[in-house]
Amino acid sequence: MCYVRAVPTAKRPEAKVTRSGTVAIVGRPNVGKSTLLNAALAVDLAIVSETPQTTRENLLGVLHRTLSDGTLAELLLLDTPGLHEGKTTLNKRMNRVAKQASAAADVVIMTTEVPKEARRELLPYGPDVALVRQLAQDAKVVLVVNKIDRLKDKTQLFTLIGGWTKVREFEAVVPTSALKKDGVEPILEEVGRLLPEAAHQHGVDDLTDRPSRFFAAQFVREQVLKRAWEEVPHATTVSIEEFEEHGKGVRISATVHVERDGQKKILIGEKGSMLKQIGTDARKRIADLIGVPVHLELFVRTTPGWRDNASLLDELGYAEGASLHDRAAAAPRKPARKHK
Ligand code: GDP
Ligand code: MG
Repeated sequence: MCYVRAVPTAKRPEAKVTRSGTVAIVGRPNVGKSTLLNAALAVDLAIVSETPQTTRENLLGVLHRTLSDGTLAELLLLDTPGLHEGKTTLNKRMNRVAKQASAAADVVIMTTEVPKEARRELLPYGPDVALVRQLAQDAKVVLVVNKIDRLKDKTQLFTLIGGWTKVREFEAVVPTSALKKDGVEPILEEVGRLLPEAAHQHGVDDLTDRPSRFFAAQFVREQVLKRAWEEVPHATTVSIEEFEEHGKGVRISATVHVERDGQKKILIGEKGSMLKQIGTDARKRIADLIGVPVHLELFVRTTPGWRDNASLLDELGYAEGASLHDRAAAAPRKPARKHK
């Protein structure tokens, strides 16, 4: 049999369908949202710690993926602060930022976790159920059940997932271990196919819309979170005084703000040893992300009540409900890009 084609296929490539949209990663503090973002991007962009409320602002991670049907999907993944009860002005801003992100997103990744000491019969956790009920009825929600590495017997997931499907209709329920990078691909596939058909907004090398100096501040705070306990992590924030490119490297000067002199003493440590360690490890992390040598100078300052001082919060960059797009439209900045 002979087929006649007007134009040989090789000369007429099929136009690929492209999808693009925002994907808000929401859930309680500490369920592993930031770990999931990092696993999806294969870059440690977001800071992760055992301390709840590590993430204080939305963080965009841009991901391009070819889906199994050949569609080119652009996932604008938005890591959000965990939704939590909290009374300071900072806490209220964090909750508002997370709620706005889920309301505006094309797809919501609602993250829940397997509890540390899993009982035989696992059921959806009450506070997570309450969060799911707050999501819009017509929202497209993918439920991620994270930390499945905690389960010796994976059949326990059946009752847990069965319980969740009674709470609301999900587009998909995906068991995952973000920490072990297990089950992350199926989430991206599920989410990608739910995005609207649209042209891509970012180049393939784009990683985020935040400038490098934002990550410099985050990575210094991350090192504080790794070493300080009790109220110190919550009382700490970091501002960048100087971020200067010179030759092949960057010179950064940063201030670690705490609320009390006692906290300042803890962070400086014996003969400055703690601050030195924080600086050494943060410097490495910043250099890894931006791909050039970094010189980092750190100071510690007592700034009483910064968490409840609206104008200080503005100054420190904690936006009052500024959306992703407001931010993108703000002052020109040099976003962090992938480097090889
Ligand atoms: P977030 O507050 O939701 O962003 O949570 P993080 O990503 O900061 O993670 C909180 C803690 O949970 C950290 O100590 C992570 O290492 C840990 N974690 C995240 N994902 C997993 C996982 O899949 N399994 C286990 N066992 N721990 C995880
Ligand atoms: Mg986080």
